[in-house]
Amino acid sequence: MGGRAVDRLGRALRGGRRRAGRLFGRGGTGARLESERRFREVFLASPVGMALADENGLFVEVNPAWCALLGRPPEALLGHSATEFIHDEDLRQRSPTGELPGRTIDEDGVLRVERRWVRPDGEIRWGWLSVASVHGPAGEKWTLAHAQDLTERKRVESELQQSQNTLTAVARVAHCVQSGEDPRPVLAAEVRWLSQASSVTILESTGVGTLTVTHSLGHELAGVQIRTMTGAILRIWLGGPPEFITEAGDDDWGFGDLPVPASTASSWWQPLSDSESIIGVLVVTWDHVVDGPDGRSVTSVRALADEAASVLTAARVRMELETLADTDALTGLSNRRGWQASLRDLASTARQSGRPLTLALIDLDHFKSYNDAYGHHHGDVLLRNFAARAQGMLRKADVIARWGGEEFAIGLPGCGAADAGPLLDRLRQVVPDGQTCSIGYATLLPTESPTECLVRADSMLYRAKREGRNRVVGAADSTAPSAD
Ligand code: GH3
Ligand code: MG
Ligand code: MG
Repeated sequence: MGGRAVDRLGRALRGGRRRAGRLFGRGGTGARLESERRFREVFLASPVGMALADENGLFVEVNPAWCALLGRPPEALLGHSATEFIHDEDLRQRSPTGELPGRTIDEDGVLRVERRWVRPDGEIRWGWLSVASVHGPAGEKWTLAHAQDLTERKRVESELQQSQNTLTAVARVAHCVQSGEDPRPVLAAEVRWLSQASSVTILESTGVGTLTVTHSLGHELAGVQIRTMTGAILRIWLGGPPEFITEAGDDDWGFGDLPVPASTASSWWQPLSDSESIIGVLVVTWDHVVDGPDGRSVTSVRALADEAASVLTAARVRMELETLADTDALTGLSNRRGWQASLRDLASTARQSGRPLTLALIDLDHFKSYNDAYGHHHGDVLLRNFAARAQGMLRKADVIARWGGEEFAIGLPGCGAADAGPLLDRLRQVVPDGQTCSIGYATLLPTESPTECLVRADSMLYRAKREGRNRVVGAADSTAPSAD
């Protein structure tokens, strides 16, 4: 604050002091003048903002620190109501009786409250305000306010909070590697929460030149494929940097073929890159215009995207390994491990839907002799061909697995004994190279576990073998078609 402003404040102070005689005056004239001088020095030099308001709430005195806090010279404040400079939200939160929230009234009768003021350039300053009641010159109820600038502390606190939130979010996404949980919904939810975005879309590479929406939040896009990349997506896919598009509708920048919500005002396009390559694109949209790439929310999104790429890669590798672990290398069918998982699903769906489920076991007849006659390699080829033929005859919902050696297990959801018998009999006839098989089956009873049902199917298979092979035998509750 310049010298003239201080003079003006001094004049205001003196004027105010004359008016506020009762407030500041004590003792005889000499002592009073000395007291006034000391008060004025403290008032002017105090780093704490100080303001005196009259019974109508109009400023009669303000010190330089108060002027600095509100970003205005004294003449812009004196005679004005204190409420003119308070942030709208603080004013709106007043109770019907005019009380502001967050106030505490201490035993000394002083009100203390956090308050935001708006400077002429729109900047918001936070302060810790104390308001004490004092006597005006004619005994009116004036108020003396002190304000400590909290803006810097608020900024540091909020930055700290944001980085803590980012760390928590990154940890949650990273945890998916350990837990095996799909990281996509976690990533999308954390990104949306951290950035206060309207929508989050995860695009991942699903083949040469193709990106697929693997998860979306805030709009329904899952499964959408982008085969021809244009706009921001193309630039990022070609190795370009992240892009921030402040205003929608700028076609030069373009959203490519991704149907972002019509309400989008700003968007952020972030490559998902693991250590080797770009594996996808993260798209964040806001329905309102937000800060540029330096905005703190964008920093958080970037940190999350970096973590997410390696987590997504880990999830993909894990899925591939799981698929491998569940797949039989010779026939490409599920192996016994994969079968167990399918069986659980089939059984629970059957229980929930009340629809029947038939389980069957197939065993090639005299396969040892076939191996002995034609060699193990030929045996392998036969197993592979039979698997392919059998699979080709089944519906999409049916499950076939290599149960072991020359044995196969089949699950037929929605099939009771009447449907399963003829279908299995057709299967019996597709063993290649003139070979045959025996099949036993049972339909899941409401009282038994799928394993118990499978044991019954196995004993039917045993019966089929005993009764001469090359036949289909159903359990007692099932109707068996006759053998050839
Ligand atoms: P049965 O009609 O009683 O079932 O006679 P089988 O000879 O088929 O039964 P057995 O259990 O005596 O022999 C099963 C044969 O299946 C023995 C084994 O060499 C063969 N086998 C199991 N797995 C494979 C495989 O992966 N490849 C080949 N080529 N043969 C296999
Ligand atoms: Mg066998
Ligand atoms: Mg056999």
